[in-house]
Amino acid sequence: MKFCRFGANCFGIVEADVVYDVTQALDVLPQVRYPFPASDLLIANLDAVRERATQLKKDAPAIPLDKVRLLSPVANPGKIIAAPVNYTKHLQEVLADQHLHHGNMINHIEKAGLFLKAGSSLIGAGDNVRLVHTDRRNDHEVELAVVIGKCGRNIAREQALDYVAGYSIGLDMTIRGPEERSFRKSPDTYTVLGPWLVTKDEIDNPGALDLSIAVNGEVRQKANTSDLIIDVPGLIAFASSFYTLHAGDVIITGTPEGVSPIVPGDTMVATIERVGTLTVQVSAA
Ligand code: MN
Repeated sequence: MKFCRFGANCFGIVEADVVYDVTQALDVLPQVRYPFPASDLLIANLDAVRERATQLKKDAPAIPLDKVRLLSPVANPGKIIAAPVNYTKHLQEVLADQHLHHGNMINHIEKAGLFLKAGSSLIGAGDNVRLVHTDRRNDHEVELAVVIGKCGRNIAREQALDYVAGYSIGLDMTIRGPEERSFRKSPDTYTVLGPWLVTKDEIDNPGALDLSIAVNGEVRQKANTSDLIIDVPGLIAFASSFYTLHAGDVIITGTPEGVSPIVPGDTMVATIERVGTLTVQVSAA
């Protein structure tokens, strides 16, 4: 199933070009009080929400997708975990281009580890990416996003996919420059997630998905997740060997070759096979 969040915190099931408004399904969520749990409440209770949403869909209003403003399918990820240089050809292009590496030491991912992006950087497809420091180079990075479905630590790669709630498209927007990755990649709007969450039962193998991004109609990045250096189960095992993963944590799995600058006025269209297509406008902050 495809679940989206839209409008004023509404919740929907997406089928073809229509959103069924099943916001009432959120009534099954437990009432929580401060301090809030480390997990995203919706993702932690997705099975119960799914059951109720399926019942409600029969009588739910159907809204054309192009009439809704899409929000991030995960409202409150505890962590946005990101994989640096996780495609060999992207590693090669970064090492070859001073405008990409800026003298930073670029290590193979097994040595570099993972990094975190600020939760406050997260938007959905209905918002613009609003560039800061437009005097510097700002790039797009299209990535398969994995949404964790349940809490786990030291997860074995053989069990890793049991911990997945679903998949989405991630855009890891980046200011090029000498600072730490997490700083350059965490301004407001620099993480896009969407257009929706595809539940994991729709994707048997996250390691065989075509992904691409076009800017103003010109294809800039095009690859397949089979080219990942550390695949999705490996990333879950690697991340969870350092910290507990919680429901709603998002792992963006790294970007392939072809990163390139974007400027205000551009339109980015990212597609991942079996997930969908995410269209996002670029503006200045
Ligand atoms: Mn990235």
